[in-house]
Amino acid sequence: DAIITVTDIHKVYPNGVHALKNVSQTIKEGEVVVVVGPSGSGKSTFLRTLNQLETINTGEIVVDGISLTTPGDVNKLREEVGMVFQSFNLFPHLSVLDNICLAPMKVRGISRSDAEDRGVELLVKVGLSDKAGSFPPQLSGGQQQRVAIARALAMQPKIMLFDEPTSALDPEMVGEVLEVMKQLARSGMTMVVVTHEMGFAREVADRVIFMESGELLEDSDPEHFFDEP
Ligand code: ADP
Ligand code: ADP
Repeated sequence: DAIITVTDIHKVYPNGVHALKNVSQTIKEGEVVVVVGPSGSGKSTFLRTLNQLETINTGEIVVDGISLTTPGDVNKLREEVGMVFQSFNLFPHLSVLDNICLAPMKVRGISRSDAEDRGVELLVKVGLSDKAGSFPPQLSGGQQQRVAIARALAMQPKIMLFDEPTSALDPEMVGEVLEVMKQLARSGMTMVVVTHEMGFAREVADRVIFMESGELLEDSDPEHFFDEP
């Protein structure tokens, strides 16, 4: 079943850049979609429209039954759609566990002890069970990005968006982050991933979308995408 339906959307930034041109896309529950294309082609803009970090000018987006065209419940949407950025954006003065627990406690009203129980489980999942009491500046980039993934998962989202999650990392740390993402994909999470990691796309993606100059040009399964000359 479709969990994200994008129909004929256009995005024009105030400076006149036409970043998305007539983009349509249906994403099914549990699907892993990788978005590729040159820098400036609209990948990040497309991703950000899916959780309303960017508004669209025309067209329609429906995410898990929530129409993003009708002004309304951005908070409900953001609870269902987790996002991981290139920069980890952790709070440096909060412990790893507190970073993960903050939103569930504030936004969802979950008790501290429940939030911490779940936070500890998530840290095990991302391989950082020994780092609960550490502070982000004490961690490597790869570790910080895994914390950022755990933090997004703490809201129990139905969909996870990744915007170049490994682009800011030293090469030796890319693998550990991709491994966590692969696990998540195998667990059935619906994922939309902007990345230049073609190995990940080939191995994990159900579909690869190619964007150029704001248009969605190609949409195919990874075998066909990578086999073309
Ligand atoms: P990509 O993720 O493929 O690199 P982006 O979605 O970041 O592409 O950018 C698409 C186009 O929109 C580019 O021309 C970029 O300069 C422009 N753009 C992105 N964000 C903004 C913004 N906030 N304001 C104006 N133009 C933007
Ligand atoms: P990314 O591709 O990861 O979005 P960029 O370097 O394209 O990184 O953009 C970084 C930030 O600057 C983003 O928040 C984007 O919206 C904004 N931005 C990008 N291009 C422009 C632009 N031409 N005018 C204004 N803001 C822009």
